[in-house]
Amino acid sequence: MSEINFFEHINYFKSFVEGNIPIYDWQTWFDKYAPQLFSNIKRLDYLRLKFYPLEHLCKILDKYGISYKKRERCYKCSDVLFQAIPGITIKEEIITFAQNAKFKGAKKIVQEAWMHPGMHCPNCGFTIFHSYKVD
Ligand SMILES: [Zn+2]
Repeated sequence: MSEINFFEHINYFKSFVEGNIPIYDWQTWFDKYAPQLFSNIKRLDYLRLKFYPLEHLCKILDKYGISYKKRERCYKCSDVLFQAIPGITIKEEIITFAQNAKFKGAKKIVQEAWMHPGMHCPNCGFTIFHSYKVD
């Protein structure tokens, strides 16, 4: 089994950490390289990459001195959270988010073109509600 060179994948890791790559794409990447990873890295690191990719990829990026801007991800499924901020997030953004979302209740958001302010997971529907002060 050939060795895995993380540096060759560093741009992909950065994109993932920054939230430009969806969680299911990470699973595809991991499955593709799983045999190589399994025989080349420590068992614990292998499991970390499999189950907690975000935290572990940040460590790899840090190790290579790559700067990145970590995006908020869902605590349940690790998908990138969408932020609905009153006065900033526009209706079109909410509709686009809800049209591409997979959770139950997304259709209602499309119809109403409104969602509760906060951070929303497009995959499982996990929500962190925010109360924003209106000045
Ligand atoms: Zn989620």
